[in-house]
Amino acid sequence: MERRHGKPIDIGQFKKPVLHNLLGHLDKIRGIVSYLASHETPIHQQSCHVCGSREAVPRVEIHQFTYVTCAECGLVYTSRRYSDEAIRRFYATNRYWSEVTYANRETCHYRRDQVAKPKVEFAERHLGNERGVWVDVGSGIGDLVSVVQERGWQGVGLELSATSVAFAKEVFGVNLEQTTLEEYLTTHPEWIGTIQVVSLIGVLEHVTDPMGLLATVQKILVPGGAALIQVPNANSLASMVQEVFPDNVFRHMSPIEHIMLFTEPALMRALELNGFEPIAWWFHGLDIYELLTNLVISHHDRMRDSALYHTLLATMNNLQQVIDDQELSDRIICLARKKITLPKT
Ligand SMILES: [Zn+2]
Repeated sequence: MERRHGKPIDIGQFKKPVLHNLLGHLDKIRGIVSYLASHETPIHQQSCHVCGSREAVPRVEIHQFTYVTCAECGLVYTSRRYSDEAIRRFYATNRYWSEVTYANRETCHYRRDQVAKPKVEFAERHLGNERGVWVDVGSGIGDLVSVVQERGWQGVGLELSATSVAFAKEVFGVNLEQTTLEEYLTTHPEWIGTIQVVSLIGVLEHVTDPMGLLATVQKILVPGGAALIQVPNANSLASMVQEVFPDNVFRHMSPIEHIMLFTEPALMRALELNGFEPIAWWFHGLDIYELLTNLVISHHDRMRDSALYHTLLATMNNLQQVIDDQELSDRIICLARKKITLPKT
């Protein structure tokens, strides 16, 4: 089984809008946290999203939410969370989030060619030559859909954010469906058992029922079809940095965004329970970027334009490779094949 480690990235270019105004960005995130706190009421998450265990150990408090570790499978999740409706309201209307992180004119083409395309190529190495339907769930600005269409797949993208859907059309000429997979299936039941690939890039950690979503993905895939999944890794250097600087968090262990983080065993468990078999893993992350941004936020005047800042930026890919080789990267990508026979329940 392939286990790939590392992926060079031009962080100065990719994270330009955020790096350019780090303190302002953190303020915006704190603003969203307090907006949600005053407009929505969180509900208690009584059990693990993956294995259902009610045993959990507190890990870290971030922006008034406690992340706990499931004693059974190792999933890390917030003990309180907003409802599906509240999350949907947030993504449907919050323009800042979509604009600064994804729908950004300065970074969108870099994102398409250097972030989305390598993931598609990674999956294609393990898939046959046949190019059927590829469904991308949570498409963002449609960068991955644009890549798969160009490579001969019949690419379909589902995305909730109106800002992102409009942006995808404008910059890549891609038509995304503004809906969820479950909703789309109510009008397109013919999808069941016919889809070749489903990608869930940065999706499972946002949804309140990741097991239900994986079960639906399993259902629409052809026998032997594959799911390409990217999730944040709780066992990462970025998590360790954030446990030391919990007040600075604006990504990764960000409770308004990620209500859970996986580990390789927790993701394995989720896949196996839903009739999937992993066939390839890829570990790469932004952990050194996370360390650098925390140093800048904590010691802004001394860090800004310091030799340390420029050296960390210049050597970031080499430093990150060491972390990726140790599988301590803050994201995990897994390609998993649909098993022909379902596990007995
Ligand atoms: Zn669990």
